[in-house]
Amino acid sequence: MLRRLALWMRARMDVGTFETKADISTFVLHTVLVATVMATAIYLTVAAVLAHFDLLPYPFAAALRFGGTTTILIASSVTALLAWLIGSAAHELAISRAEFERLSRTDMLSGLLNRRAFTEEMAAGGGEGSLALFDVDRLKAVNDRHGHAVGDAVIVAVSEELLRVFPPPHAVGRFGGEEFAVLVRSEDRDDCRLMVEEARRSVASHPVEWAEGTVFVTLSAGIADRAGRPLESVFEAADRALYLAKSVGRDRAVHEDEATELLAPRRRAAGGRGR
Ligand code: GH3
Ligand code: MG
Repeated sequence: MLRRLALWMRARMDVGTFETKADISTFVLHTVLVATVMATAIYLTVAAVLAHFDLLPYPFAAALRFGGTTTILIASSVTALLAWLIGSAAHELAISRAEFERLSRTDMLSGLLNRRAFTEEMAAGGGEGSLALFDVDRLKAVNDRHGHAVGDAVIVAVSEELLRVFPPPHAVGRFGGEEFAVLVRSEDRDDCRLMVEEARRSVASHPVEWAEGTVFVTLSAGIADRAGRPLESVFEAADRALYLAKSVGRDRAVHEDEATELLAPRRRAAGGRGR
């Protein structure tokens, strides 16, 4: 029975229950019911066997009348107490586990998904949607001019803006220092582009405030379609597009498909010089 109880508890914890007092009450009631039925059944079986061999010190009918009731009372009280203690301990464990799980997936400064959690989200998301990588332009200059705390405030402000523009079911993560990743769960490429542009424009037009003033920052972004490709290829394609957005002037978004078009004038210029 203890094994059954342990298995049942594990199953409950695995699905994230025991998080409320009501879960504990359900657990207690269930356990008391199972324990009482089992204790009564065992008591009656033992009594019947003993009566059969004339080893019962009182008539079997008396065992049925008084013994059964006593067994039920004792079994239910003891198991209720034990189940409540076990349930309360499991409740505390479930809460700590949920909190630990949340913290291990969260970037502490921005509150966004961290790199590992974001990559897991991408992997679980199937082969659809698009990946947008955003990078704050010239953050080093902000740090150098106004201090690291202002740079941190910029990261927090950009995170809030990205979360506003890309609410669930999209996923937003902080991918590294001042780089953010967004899984745009939309099959419509124009839709995705519009959202990326909205985030970029919104960040550029809202100053980040701190105690002594304000600072404006811009974002560059690279977009790649998931298109059923392996994660690595998608990240590489978005990263290349982001690099291109930086190299053609920053404060802009570039889709991977625009790379050839954007690089053409450079190639022509390079070719011209070569001749
Ligand atoms: P670019 O437009 O080429 O991206 O220029 P950048 O200055 O943003 O990029 P660079 O790679 O030269 O420097 C990144 C800067 O971002 C330097 C680093 O200190 C800063 N940074 C990264 N993470 C944090 C952070 O958590 N807080 C603060 N305040 N700064 C950060
Ligand atoms: Mg940067």
